[in-house]
Amino acid sequence: MLGILLYCRPGFENDCANEIQDKAGALEVFGFVKTKRNSGYVFYQCYNPEEVEGLLKSINYKQLIFSRQLIAVKAFVEDLPLDDRITPILEVTRNMPLGGDLYVETPEGDETKPLLTFCRKFTVPLRQALKKQNSLTAKENRKKLCYHLCFLDNQSAYIGFSVPHNRSEFYMGIARLRSPSEAPSRSTLKLDEAIQIFLTPEEQEERMHSGMRAVDLGACPGGWTYQLVRRGLFVTCIDNGAMAQSLMDSGQVTHYMVDGFKYEPERKNIDWLVCDMIEKPKRVAKLMAKWLIEGWCKETIFNLKLPMKKRYQEASEDLKILTDMLEEAGLSYQLQAKHLYHDREEITVHVSLQGNVWGKQLGK
Ligand code: SAM
Repeated sequence: MLGILLYCRPGFENDCANEIQDKAGALEVFGFVKTKRNSGYVFYQCYNPEEVEGLLKSINYKQLIFSRQLIAVKAFVEDLPLDDRITPILEVTRNMPLGGDLYVETPEGDETKPLLTFCRKFTVPLRQALKKQNSLTAKENRKKLCYHLCFLDNQSAYIGFSVPHNRSEFYMGIARLRSPSEAPSRSTLKLDEAIQIFLTPEEQEERMHSGMRAVDLGACPGGWTYQLVRRGLFVTCIDNGAMAQSLMDSGQVTHYMVDGFKYEPERKNIDWLVCDMIEKPKRVAKLMAKWLIEGWCKETIFNLKLPMKKRYQEASEDLKILTDMLEEAGLSYQLQAKHLYHDREEITVHVSLQGNVWGKQLGK
């Protein structure tokens, strides 16, 4: 194996590269990064090819903020003959473990967009050839490795695989969601994507359902609230702006025009706190920690706005502030932070308290 290929949002290559170097360095798997500005990918080439598979197993995809996909690369092929790209690809895949599925992809970006049609068309004959070579299972099987061919142009591609439970299941690592026409803002997709990415369908059913209570800080005009109302939650919205009338008419929304940093909920057993306030990320991180520590909410999904250059560094510092505060308060929690497809200069964070949350806080 050669190294690890990661997809990211174009323009965020440095953040993605800093993150993989940091994680690989901590595991003492040394290498160097190959990337190009706005290319939508980062390749981490390991000095010792034998360490790649170990690195893939040791890095937890869910704990990577800026990566959309995690692929172990077997080879980079160039100058593929236009009349037969398949034969050289089969030579590489012959020595790869059995795969259960195939994604022929290209990194997201203006330059590579025209390649998408080629990728879709090429998938069919390549899939057939791989099955014939016994490299792929006859029936699609997502419990096995997924082969990824990442084309940079129509003659060169990275060839590798992702492993189950340590990858995004989405094509190109992108959750494409339909924007609901009745939602008051497009940022509704950010919370929808966050819920799909951070919670399994079973967890959504169990932990975000009809009758639960939520608070939305920085709620106007109501794109995030819309997602909660649609799932049957009662939402208290905090913002000096105006909420969409359609949401107020739902009977599930209460709106207070107060400062989100000063608001304290009357009922202290809120199931969900969501927050999309445009504020300094450290201030938001501390506020989220306060809500969890005070026992005002059980779970939270929030954005950290990152308009600065060193976004990975800033995000790491913000998350450390939050986790230090939770640990100091003796709380156990699960945390995941992702730069989602619908996020721009921001990341989305999910924190859920573990164990008997109310028991713990009431017992203080
Ligand atoms: N999530 C919203 C949606 O989907 O429609 C969009 C939120 S918008 C990005 C940020 C909002 O945060 C603005 O409406 C702004 O008024 C509000 N905001 C900023 N600082 C705030 C504060 N200290 N307290 C309450 N709201 C605040």
